[in-house]
Amino acid sequence: MSQPSKAPTILELYPEGTRESAELLKQAVPLMMRHDIPPNPLHYALWYTYSRGEEPELNRRLDKTLDDFESFPPETAAKLFRDFIIRGELEEARAGQQQVIELVDDIEGDISRSVVGSRNYQQSLEQGLAALHEPLIDELPHVLTDLQHSTQQMQDQHEKFLYRLRAAQDEIQHLRSQLERAHLAATLDSLTHVFNRHAFTRLLEQSLSGDHQGVALVMLDIDHFKQFNDQYGHPLGDRVLQTIGQLLRETLPPRAMAARYGGEEFCVVLRECFDLESARVFSEQLRLKIQSLRIKVRRTDQVLDSITASFGFALAEAGDSVESLLTRADDALYQAKRNGRNQAQPGPTEAELSA
Ligand code: GH3
Ligand code: MG
Ligand code: MG
Repeated sequence: MSQPSKAPTILELYPEGTRESAELLKQAVPLMMRHDIPPNPLHYALWYTYSRGEEPELNRRLDKTLDDFESFPPETAAKLFRDFIIRGELEEARAGQQQVIELVDDIEGDISRSVVGSRNYQQSLEQGLAALHEPLIDELPHVLTDLQHSTQQMQDQHEKFLYRLRAAQDEIQHLRSQLERAHLAATLDSLTHVFNRHAFTRLLEQSLSGDHQGVALVMLDIDHFKQFNDQYGHPLGDRVLQTIGQLLRETLPPRAMAARYGGEEFCVVLRECFDLESARVFSEQLRLKIQSLRIKVRRTDQVLDSITASFGFALAEAGDSVESLLTRADDALYQAKRNGRNQAQPGPTEAELSA
């Protein structure tokens, strides 16, 4: 691979000795006189190089400039001087300039993604970038200072913005927790911490609004609970309800939900339950768990008689409403009570009902 040719430094620009230089001088000065070009060092360097003829592009540009203009514009002279005479010296500055351009481009990209204050900053960056692309070497320190200043300002602004953003995030998080608590309070039963009847009805309605497939309803009612309250007192009755609520929450299969439907009645909506047998298995397991609960009377060693519950379950069918499904599960529950309690009964299917 060939090495890229390194541009000469200013010291390497004019290797000619006295005689050769004097020859070139003799050619350059008349040229400048002919076109009324002041023989200052900048112009002289250009016409000296022109006379040497080693920079055909410079010669072409100088010829063209003389053709286009009556006089020789100083800006063009300055530009040609930079482009052809001190080109090598500018390489390093250009590399730095390029880095700054890239950095500024990067920062510009980052900042433009942020929201606050980016417009003003972008403007100053654009001005800075425009100046950087113009290789005015004298301007470079000012441009960089300006950019540094704007960057600092933007950084300060950014930090303030981030600080406010974090504060806002904390505030949003706080509000969200409050809202979630309020939402839960509105949907949960305060004693048992499962859904209340209102939320349950709404959620069951949602479950039945789409495809009814895989939805089953299990209803359970504590047996002889009135008697329990009479024997042990209402507060202990409350503890039983709380314990059953906790048991439900702990034993729910995925996507199922439990609710307190009434005083000592609970409902469970099962999802992905496609046959009555699966609903029966779930009901039976729950029934046995309730039966094996051992509730102690506080501050005594007395363990209460076992609590039992009766269950009715039904599978949702096409065309089922909340009411029709509840009725079938409730009918089954009633049947379980009639059959002697502490058992689970399936509800009739729609086909059985209409037969
Ligand atoms: P069954 O086996 O036929 O269901 O008999 P049961 O006594 O459970 O049924 P019943 O409907 O006659 O009585 C329900 C009892 O549930 C009445 C009430 O004392 C009790 N109960 C309802 N809500 C609460 C409650 O929030 N706390 C307590 N401790 N008891 C409740
Ligand atoms: Mg009841
Ligand atoms: Mg009861």
